[in-house]
Parts: sequence; structure tokens; C-alpha cells
Amino acid sequence: MRPPKVYSIDEHLLPINKIDTKAYYVIEKLRVNGFLSFLVGGSVRDLLLKQVPKDFDIATSAKPEEIKKIFKRNCILIGKRFRLAHIRFGKKIIEVSTFRAGDAKKEELILQDNIYGTPEKDVLRRDFTINGLFYDPEVQTVIDYVDGYTDLQKKILRTIGEAKLRFIQDPVRMIRLLKFKARFDFEIEKETLNALIECKQEIVKSSPARILEELFRMLVSTKSKNFFKLLDSYNFLDYLMPELSDFLKINNTLVFTLLEKADLEISKNSLPRSVLISCLIYPYLEMQLKEEFIDKDIFVHLGIVIQIAKESTNAIFRPFFQVPKKLKVEIISILTNQFRFTPINNSKKFKRLKIPRDPCFFMSLQFFRLRCLIDTNLSNIYHRWLNAYESKKIPKKIQKVKENEL
Ligand code: ATP
Ligand code: MG
Repeated sequence: MRPPKVYSIDEHLLPINKIDTKAYYVIEKLRVNGFLSFLVGGSVRDLLLKQVPKDFDIATSAKPEEIKKIFKRNCILIGKRFRLAHIRFGKKIIEVSTFRAGDAKKEELILQDNIYGTPEKDVLRRDFTINGLFYDPEVQTVIDYVDGYTDLQKKILRTIGEAKLRFIQDPVRMIRLLKFKARFDFEIEKETLNALIECKQEIVKSSPARILEELFRMLVSTKSKNFFKLLDSYNFLDYLMPELSDFLKINNTLVFTLLEKADLEISKNSLPRSVLISCLIYPYLEMQLKEEFIDKDIFVHLGIVIQIAKESTNAIFRPFFQVPKKLKVEIISILTNQFRFTPINNSKKFKRLKIPRDPCFFMSLQFFRLRCLIDTNLSNIYHRWLNAYESKKIPKKIQKVKENEL
């Protein structure tokens, strides 16, 4: 293998003051104990792009058990497919992985990746060139085995190694490719793009839980609209969420505007996952209610809405994903409460507003706010419900606990 390109601080200008002090501490401690250790992956990429990394990953020559010995009770070893060490500092976690020698040439799904290797080998099993950079804080250099640095400068997304092979080995990489495209708006290099188109049906072979995690991460990324548009336009929704894909073919406006408003909102205040997921289901639910009840002049009471909200949530995620039960309960509640705020049969419009005993009520208001950002005519109703909620005589202490739970 050819030697890596090494970029000095004068060249790469990585903002070292943005590196988490805990990450520095972990790297240093591993070194003092005789191991190699570098900052790696997304954090190096994000720092070079002058963005704030979400997490700081460290790669080291120390084996998981050796890491455990150094950090003792602050370290827990996790993962089966991919064994990792989590070093805990209160709520903060620094993820440390041992250099792997993943078989970059193997033509099948990788089920385990626990063969240890050198830094060079470790880079070759990573997904994209922009994610394959090491940063060595001791001498402040960026170490590049895969020309990731120039791809980052040129804004290019390219797999490390042969694209088709890398997607077959782990189809989640295709979803990750679209995530980086949505996030950075880089160009996808030709071979990588062709492989994405050719291998898309492989996606069903990957673990639904891993893909769901990437979808959830993207929902809170402020780029969810871009991401779901890409999933749709590259036909991944046909495989992952076929019902949503069909629905978007006839009516895609509301889903994408809800996501757009959520992206805007989340750049100011955080929103719970269930509120964000509801953006994908609410327009579909509206259509179901219209077709099955409103158009047939059937009276829609909240009991019916609960039932159809349940069916719609299942339909949107079927057949690939299993939504965790607690999340599903929240989503159904959020969706149902929308028809409390804006009832289909509007006769109770000026009745005193009754706040239900529902732990998801505040989240329902958060979703209603997104609807108001699209349809400003709803603002008055939103504020009436918000006031009613805030003035409801719940002892302050309990209310605080409830809202923290949200
Ligand atoms: P994010 O900013 O969303 O966290 P990330 O690139 O840091 O993006 P992580 O899931 O935190 O993603 O993974 C850290 C690093 O591990 C990646 O940058 C990449 O080098 C490597 N990696 C993650 N997933 C894969 C995969 N499926 N195949 C190969 N390498 C991967
Ligand atoms: Mg990361």
C-alpha cells in the first residue's frame, strides 16, 4: 500500500479548539499506555468542513479488553457485529474502536467485523473517502490513505474501494451515501452513483433497525426534507416504505412541506422523534379519512381517528420496519390529537377546550405548530389550545416532569 498523504496544520486549518477535550483526554491516555490512537471518521470530516461534529470517534490499536483495562469503570464494551468501547464522562460518551481489517474484497454481506488490523486496513473498511481521514492531535496532522482530503475539498462523495462491492457488503452504506448527499449537497462520483442505482434492491437485505436508526438521525438533522426527497427519487422508498412511496406519487406536497417546517423549527428548538415521524404519516392519514369516511358522509369520531391513525402508522412502515412500541403509541396520540384541534365535523368549534389526560398532549401541540406554519389560518386555534394547556391546573412540579418526559 502506498504511504498516506499527510497534511500539516498550515494546510488543513482544522479548528483544533473545536475538538472535544474529553476526546483529547482519551487519545492521550491510550497513547501514554503505549497504543496508537487517532480521531477518525465523521468528526475529522465535520471539523475540516468547519461544522460542529455530533460525536467524536477514536480509532486505536488497543483491543476492546485493553481499552477496558485503561478506563475501567468508565468504559463499557458494546456491540456484537462490531465490538466497541464507550468511554463515559457523565452523559457524554466517546466511542473508541480498535483498528479493523475488514475484508474489503469479500463479495457478500458482512455479518461480523471484528478482525483487528492496522490503521491503513482500518481506513479501507470504512465507507466513503471523506470518512476515512485520521487526525493526529499530537502533531496536528491529517493522515489520508484514500484521497479523502481532496474529495472533501472538491465536494465529492466516493466509496472507498469498488462501489458495487462495498454496497453489496453493507447496503446501509447506500442510505448513508444519501444522508451525506442530503447533508452536504456534494456530488456523487460516477462509479458510486452507478453502483447506487444498480444495487438499490440489495437494501432489503440489511438490518431494518440500522436503517431505521439512520432515518431517525436524519429526521433530527435539519436536512430531513432533502434526505427523504433523495430516498424517494432514487427509489429507495419503493423498497423501504412502499406505501409512502405510492402516496408521494399522488400527493407529495404536504409531507415535504411538513418536513421543511420541521427542519426549520429544529434548527432553533429540538423536537421529539415522534413529532418528526408524524410528518411522514399525517398527510396519508388525512387521505385515508377523506376517502373512507368524509367522502362517504360517515361521521368521524375520535375513536375512528385512533383506529385509522394506528392503521396508517403500520401501513407507512410496513413491511420492512418495526417501529418501537412506545414510539408508536406517541405517534398515534399526536396524530389523533390533530383531529381534536381541528375536528372534521366542526360543530364543537367554540366549546370550552378540554385538555385530555394524555402525556403526549404537548407533543401533539408541537406537531400542530408545524401545521400552523404551513396554514397560518390555524394560528388562532393553536394559541387557544396552547393557552388552555398552559393554564390547566396541573401542579407546576408535575407539569415540569411531564414536559421533561416529552
Ligand atoms: P454522523 O455525522 O451522522 O455521525 P458519521 O460518518 O460520523 O456520520 P457514524 O455512524 O458516527 O457516522 O460512523 C463513524 C465512522 O465509522 C464513519 O465516519 C465511517 O468512517 C465509519 N462507518 C460508519 N458506518 C459505516 C459502514 N456502514 N461501513 C463502513 N464504515 C462505516
Ligand atoms: Mg459520527
